[in-house]
Parts: sequence; C-alpha cells; structure tokens
Amino acid sequence: MSYDFYMPTRIISRDESSADSCVKTHSTIFALGKKAVIVCGKHSARACGALDDVESVLKKLGIDYIIYDKVTENPPVSTCYAGGRAAIEAGCDFVIGIGGGSPLDASKAVAVYAANPDFAPDDAFSDNIRAALPIIAIPTTAGTGSEVNPYSVMTLDGKNVKKTMKTPYAYPRVSILDPRYTETLSRETTVSTALDAFCHCAESYLSPKSTDISRMFAVDGAKKIYNSLDAIDKLGSDADDPECLKLLRYGLMTGANAGGIAINTTGTGFNHPLGYNLTLYKGLPHGRACGAFMSAYYYYNRTTELGAKLIDDFCDAIGVEWAKVAADIVRWSDVKIGSAYGNALTPDEIELYVNNVKGAGNYKNSPYVINPDEMRDIYQKLFG
Ligand code: NAP
Ligand code: FE
Repeated sequence: MSYDFYMPTRIISRDESSADSCVKTHSTIFALGKKAVIVCGKHSARACGALDDVESVLKKLGIDYIIYDKVTENPPVSTCYAGGRAAIEAGCDFVIGIGGGSPLDASKAVAVYAANPDFAPDDAFSDNIRAALPIIAIPTTAGTGSEVNPYSVMTLDGKNVKKTMKTPYAYPRVSILDPRYTETLSRETTVSTALDAFCHCAESYLSPKSTDISRMFAVDGAKKIYNSLDAIDKLGSDADDPECLKLLRYGLMTGANAGGIAINTTGTGFNHPLGYNLTLYKGLPHGRACGAFMSAYYYYNRTTELGAKLIDDFCDAIGVEWAKVAADIVRWSDVKIGSAYGNALTPDEIELYVNNVKGAGNYKNSPYVINPDEMRDIYQKLFG
C-alpha cells in the first residue's frame, strides 16, 4: 500500500515521574516570538494550573503576552475572528492555545486571522490561507486530538451549523501533553471527551483514506481509551473521586492524542456530523453526541464486506467483540432524548438535522455511505 503521512507537530509528553509540569521542564520552546496571545476559555485554563505555568515561563523568558479568554464551547466564528483582531492590535507574533478542543480550535483560527489581517470571517474556510502565526497547543481535555491536526471546528454565527477550517498552516508547532492538567475534569467531561477520542479512532479506522500508519494510531488510541472507559464504568460511583481517575489520565491523554493523529490522515466519519446537531440544538457534549451513533455506524458499515472486515480487525485488536464495543460506547454516551424519555425529536427537527448532515462532507467517509432516508431512520429510531 502507498501512503503519504504528514504530521509536522512536535509532541512533548510529561514524564510521569517528573515533579515539575511539562511546560516548565520544556520552557525554552516558548521562545517562539516576542509577544504571545494566549487563547483559552473562561475558567479551566486557570483552574487546572496550565495558565499559571505558561505565564510563569513567559515571565521568566521576558516574553510579553495578552490573554484572550473569551472562547466558549463550540466556538462561534465571531469569537475566533475577534481573537485574531485582538492579536493584531496587540502586535502578537505567536499563539498559545490552552484548553479543550474549543480553545485549541479557536487558537488555530486566531493564528490564521492574525496572520491575514485583510481576511473577513468567512475567509478562514476558503482555499486562500497562506499563513498563520505559529501555535503551541496545550490540551486540558483528553478528547479531540486538536493538538495534532490542522482542523478548527467553528460554529457559524446564528446558524447552529459547524464548519471546519482546514489548512496545513494550522498545525501546532508544538503540543504539550501533561495529563495532570486534566485532573480537574469532572467524571462526566472525562467520559464525554474520551468518547470523542474513541469515535475518532473507530471512524478513522474505517475511512477509505486510512493507511497502515493511521490505523496503527487508531488501534493504539482505541485500546487505551476503551480500557480506560471500561475501568471508569467498573469503578461505578468511585469514579466521582478525582483520585480514582488519576491513574487513568496518562492513557486517556496519549490515547486521545493517537486518535488525533489518526484523524489527521483520514478525517472523521458519520457519527460526527450526526452528533453535531445534538450538540448545537440539544446542548449535548460533543463526545457523547458522537458516541450515541456507534451502533448505527457499525450496523450500516457491516452491510459491506470491507466494513465488516475492518470492524472485526479493529475490535479484535482491542480484544472485545464488535457488538459489545458498539453497545458499550452507546451506553456510556447515555443520551436521553426520544419518546421513551418524553422529549422525542419532531419530524421537522429530524428534517433540519438531515439537511445539516448532507451539507457536511464527512458523512461519506466510510465503506458504507448513508443516504438521507437512512439518516432520517437513524435519528427516528434512536430519538424519535
Ligand atoms: P471543550 O468544549 O473545549 O470544553 C468543555 C468544557 O470543559 C468547558 O466548560 C471547559 O471549560 C471545560 N474544561 C476543559 N478543560 C478542563 C479541565 N482541565 N478541568 C475542568 N474543566 C475543563 O471540550 P472538548 O470536548 O475538548 O472540545 C469540543 C470541541 O472540539 C467542539 O467544538 C468540537 O467540535 C471540537 N472538536 C475538534 C476536533 C479537531 O480535530 N480539531 C475533533 C473533535 C472535536 P472552559 O470553558 O473554562 O475552558
Ligand atoms: Fe470529535
């Protein structure tokens, strides 16, 4: 098989025995420019300790910075654009993204807007991107893998639709994986972000664009993530105790990172666009929204010879039978919409969702390509 593997991001992970944070032990990588724009959300970057570590390193190096902490979940284009304008006004020449997928994705868009002052907000989705400020990415969730790919998923203002900016200029120069920054995550967000990471691995493995290399990362990530989710399941209510989850944090973070490298080659599959609607219209976290479709994903893809073989190979590598994998992912996603819960999707809602999925290219990214009737059917059976 021929392949073309490109992933230019340097990844530095924490040495588990190190007393100091990975940011502090690798402080010299922050000498990337004269003034940084730190892109983050309102609370978690500070709460988890990452922002304090970065500020202390920048101060020590004598590097000036501004903090753009206006990023909300599923970041709107307007927020990212405003971050780019703030970076231009302050004369920033590099970007430090700290947070979950939302701030990391926003940091890539800020880097593009700041390096292209004549851009209108929509230009981030064009083929005209020729530059971006250099980016350092510091994930504080173990889920999206945004730290190792060129995607920035933004929400179109006033439209409840997600659109992805994709440009090789948006690869972070460096990603710093420090699982201790995820220790402040609740059990719920830990599970949801891990489900996102698992979906990346599963969807990547089946993609027609997958290669021997991307499948290697997909399997590595899937094993770590599935085993961690299974362990959390078995911990029961003990998993609400942050101490009980500590031991799982390294596997979750490196597993999610492997999933990010896998989708860097392939992109995601139909769980993602189907899930975006549940996030944008029903407020469900991204990972649980995608995981809810895992059984449907395997059901349709198993109707093709190639899909069935790939699913068997993938689940054999994890060491769990495919139907159990799919059922577990759906159960852990725990999405309670539908007539059984008294708030079923209406036919109009389903129609709107199907139209949104049709507008996203990635629903075609698997051996079986679902058609609009099947999209309708999936939503209807699960949530009608
Ligand atoms: P997120 O939207 O970045 O954050 C979810 C919540 O978790 C926020 O309230 C955030 O607080 C909080 N949080 C983050 N880190 C925390 C920590 N260490 N301790 C406590 N709370 C913490 O969640 P995400 O699931 O990582 O990212 C989802 C976004 O990524 C979506 O927009 C999705 O479309 C996108 N995505 C991108 C890719 C890609 O390849 N680029 C792939 C999949 C998904 P704050 O608001 O205070 O930060
Ligand atoms: Fe995702």
